[in-house]
Amino acid sequence: MISVTEAKEIIKSKVGRLPSIIKPIDEAVDFVLDQDVFSPINVPSFVQSSMDGYAFAFESKQNFSVLEITEIIQAGTSKQSVISKNSAVRIFTGAPLPDGADTVLMQEKARIENGALVVSGLEIEKGLNARPIGADIQEGALALQKGTLLTPASIGFLASIGIVEVAVINKPAVQIILTGNELKPIGNELSFGQIYESNSHTLKAALHQVGIYDIEIISVEDDLNRISNAVGKALEKFDLILLTGGVSVGDFDFVLEATKANNIDQLFHKIKQKPGKPLFIGSKGDKVICGLPGNPASVLSCFYNYVLLVLDQLSGTKLVLPQVKAIVTNAYKKPVGLTHFLKGKFELTRDNNTNSDYKVTILDGQESFKMNSFALANCFVEFPEDTTMINAGDEVFLTLFPR
Ligand code: AMP
Ligand code: MG
Repeated sequence: MISVTEAKEIIKSKVGRLPSIIKPIDEAVDFVLDQDVFSPINVPSFVQSSMDGYAFAFESKQNFSVLEITEIIQAGTSKQSVISKNSAVRIFTGAPLPDGADTVLMQEKARIENGALVVSGLEIEKGLNARPIGADIQEGALALQKGTLLTPASIGFLASIGIVEVAVINKPAVQIILTGNELKPIGNELSFGQIYESNSHTLKAALHQVGIYDIEIISVEDDLNRISNAVGKALEKFDLILLTGGVSVGDFDFVLEATKANNIDQLFHKIKQKPGKPLFIGSKGDKVICGLPGNPASVLSCFYNYVLLVLDQLSGTKLVLPQVKAIVTNAYKKPVGLTHFLKGKFELTRDNNTNSDYKVTILDGQESFKMNSFALANCFVEFPEDTTMINAGDEVFLTLFPR
């Protein structure tokens, strides 16, 4: 059995990148750029008014007390006007300043007398409310660097420089293979001995939260041949296979044998942790196979701790969850040997005595079949292998859930 740290190191060293693909920018959110993007234009590409008001050459304000208003310039005009010496133009936000104009007086501060703009005594600076060419970005400058995770803001920025599509690191097509004869899909009556199948719902929601939508879900009976065949077929079509259940040592746990039957290389099996001790991760070529335990809380715990790391490796996303220090409000005891990932609820409260911004309570109901406490939690409290006691007031490490 390996430690939590060793398992994470193995994932980082053994799981490689998926290839690049071209995506229209509207489909690229949550993907990672696989190219540097340089701006093909100046933004703005003309001197632009940032106010509704009056534009003029600052110089003429020194020489004249009123400026004749000669023209109205609306945003979107395709004409480049030229301003003459003792004149101003009526201008609106986003419109191009006439050649020779460099300053805009906002409408609210303007005094108009007999159709002319009074500029004597005005306290304004040259260049006011006029956005210079290239003020946001200049033609040829690096707009976004390779490796950037595309956000709504970065996508808007790409659009503003006229970029239509970009090269990004692909995301995996995922198949979830559910094992367990006892599982019944929701929406049906349970017969005696059955439970509702919940892992696929948890995993699908968790994958959606990190921008993965190419997901297929199948159910397979606890039968070695059927599971082996399902894994074999999945390897042909999917980049990432997530199995749940059947990865332990029971007589009807066939996942490990099924991976062997498909010549999948084991990266590891079993981690010194609770929940999720039997986790298996393997690979075949550039495909990754995760044998998650069946218990619902183990599934999500392993997803947050390991599958997110696999996804980071595959797609360059850097999604691993943030860790912070916190002060714990209740005690917890455990034997040595396993790292415990305890469901906790943190609050953001500054405590100057302890120099901490977080306070956390370890929730009741930590067993791996229980989803009730997980549903209330917003973090893991990580309780290391060799520690046996957490006391109220101790400092602990939290891993914050995505939300
Ligand atoms: P296993 O690892 O197959 O022994 O399963 C461990 C526990 O998790 C058993 O109680 C299963 O009934 C339960 N379980 C397995 N798969 C699911 C699932 N998809 N949804 C809910 N519970 C499950
Ligand atoms: Mg099972």
